[in-house]
Amino acid sequence: MVLATVLAMTGCADGNTDHPTAGGGVTDEAAEQAPSPSAVHPDFSLTADDLDMLTDGMPPEIRARIADRPTVFLERAKDLLALPEMILARADKQTRLPADFEPADLVDLARYGDRWILNREGLSLRAPVIPDLAAMIEAARLDGILLDISSSYRSYDYQDRLFAYWVDQLGQEEAERVSARPGTSQHQLGTTMDFGSVSEEFADVPAGRWLAAHAWRFGFSLSYPDGMESITGYAYEPWHFRWISRAGTAMEREFFGGVQQYFIEFWESAGPTLAGACTACS
Ligand SMILES: [Zn+2]
Repeated sequence: MVLATVLAMTGCADGNTDHPTAGGGVTDEAAEQAPSPSAVHPDFSLTADDLDMLTDGMPPEIRARIADRPTVFLERAKDLLALPEMILARADKQTRLPADFEPADLVDLARYGDRWILNREGLSLRAPVIPDLAAMIEAARLDGILLDISSSYRSYDYQDRLFAYWVDQLGQEEAERVSARPGTSQHQLGTTMDFGSVSEEFADVPAGRWLAAHAWRFGFSLSYPDGMESITGYAYEPWHFRWISRAGTAMEREFFGGVQQYFIEFWESAGPTLAGACTACS
């Protein structure tokens, strides 16, 4: 309901440019290009109040940060609106991906041969992730750190078998904390990977510390931080990173306290309105 209201409002804000002003010195064309006086960004027909409504329900500190720097916020949003489909899609315990969702642009990581350390065969990720992954692996190498990849894209069916394995090993309750039911795993998105040992000790080895400090610079976000289980639904996973683009990690850090779950939930609810209000997005 909130989204519909905002859309209606943004429609109104644009509406006045359709009517030429009598005897004014401004041409119709110029008037169409001029931002609405109350818009907080020249490429979005959104006022500060519209933006505030979009953040309804978010933690107050996040709302305050967006209200304080609305132009920077929308500048980041413009970059995010240009991302390929499903990059910022929600996949968690509340929101399942369809069983038949499989990215069409998966790239076999083995193509990179010995340049990349792959802990098993058959690893693949979506094409838009590859440039930043290459940049991150090489930046780490220059710092004397070898990043090894243990898991990447997983199909719905694979996750189904994996979850059943963990239920068998640990029982239902513990399996829910450490593994994901099919459709709720970020690995199905094709943008998410596990590094190294896939154990909590990874937080304290050089590769784990390096990733914790630097992964965001390359657009990779730690999905399940320590002490966030009540928000993310999952125990701490220092090895599990999701690529959300560099604009995405910048927005996540600057406005969402570095908590990916808040950012993705916001984007799920507000993304369509932001897309509709963007006058410079294709
Ligand atoms: Zn993982």
